[in-house]
Amino acid sequence: MRAVEVSAPGVLAVRDRPDPVPAPDEVVIAVRSCGICGTDLHLVDGELGTDRFPLVPGHEAWGEVVAVGRAVDGHAVGDLVAVDPSLHCGGCDPCRRGQGNMCRRWGALGATRPGAWAEFMAAPAANLHRLEPDYPLAAVPLAEPVACAVRGLDRLAPRPDQPAIVFGAGTMGLVLAILLDARGVGPVTVVDVNPARRALAARLTPADVRAPEELAGRTAPWVIEATGDPRAFEQALDRVARAGHLLVFGVAAPLATATVSPYRIYADELTIVGSMAILHSFPAAMDTVRRHAARLTPLVTDRFGLDGVDAALTLVRTGGTIKTVLAPGPPDRPSPGPEVSR
Ligand SMILES: [Zn+2]
Ligand SMILES: [Zn+2]
Repeated sequence: MRAVEVSAPGVLAVRDRPDPVPAPDEVVIAVRSCGICGTDLHLVDGELGTDRFPLVPGHEAWGEVVAVGRAVDGHAVGDLVAVDPSLHCGGCDPCRRGQGNMCRRWGALGATRPGAWAEFMAAPAANLHRLEPDYPLAAVPLAEPVACAVRGLDRLAPRPDQPAIVFGAGTMGLVLAILLDARGVGPVTVVDVNPARRALAARLTPADVRAPEELAGRTAPWVIEATGDPRAFEQALDRVARAGHLLVFGVAAPLATATVSPYRIYADELTIVGSMAILHSFPAAMDTVRRHAARLTPLVTDRFGLDGVDAALTLVRTGGTIKTVLAPGPPDRPSPGPEVSR
């Protein structure tokens, strides 16, 4: 099969790789599409501690089941599925406490195992979410990002009819703004430094969209940092109202630091929470994507074949896109046979 392979930080190419074969409890999917997100840029650049090269990125996948391991029950060739990329061992102490995203052996498809910037990907059957025939397929590329957003909102637990401010008008900022509005939280303000992104945000969300310098004295009890930029984190903390809450959602560089006032956290009784990836939130995300497909689908703005990966990554880096996906297209060769085990 053809796949995007990152052989060293910043070095990637489309290569032929062996077709994946499902382990007994796995399936192989023919990838219909897989998104590119900011975490992928960090992975491609070798900035996260989880990178293992050579790596096939891609953790926002959906596709068609083309091979089924012999121990798999409940999935068949031809099923359309969205894939939760999370790989939690299930046996370590955090896993046994229900905190699988803190797993001591944490992994993810597209990070610690080959992902879906490829024609085919093997995945544990337990990670699949079947798409019923009436599921709005155009919105499925957002299932994984929405699962991360749902986890973030589980952590923040915002209350309806109170204002919120979201820093960052990338995919996640806009998904979060839409979900806040859908949950009755608002008015929602979205903040971004990039005028092109602000224009897209104003078109695609109900939020009041502003540049940081246009915020004046605006504060909110619910503030979300969705850029990963330490400077934006500082600005976001400044916007938290007294007794308010800040969700740190963006992925900063692991060694980046920011300045905070401990006195303010004390005196204003601020709550700062983080949210990492997905935890028990994929089923809710599948329901959310279905219910709000009309609002979420327009966020999928750009589509490239595997050979367009360089152009796609350049587009994502410049911020002139919301969600860019790689679509390898239907397989042009016989798919790997079912009932194969390894
Ligand atoms: Zn992602
Ligand atoms: Zn574990």
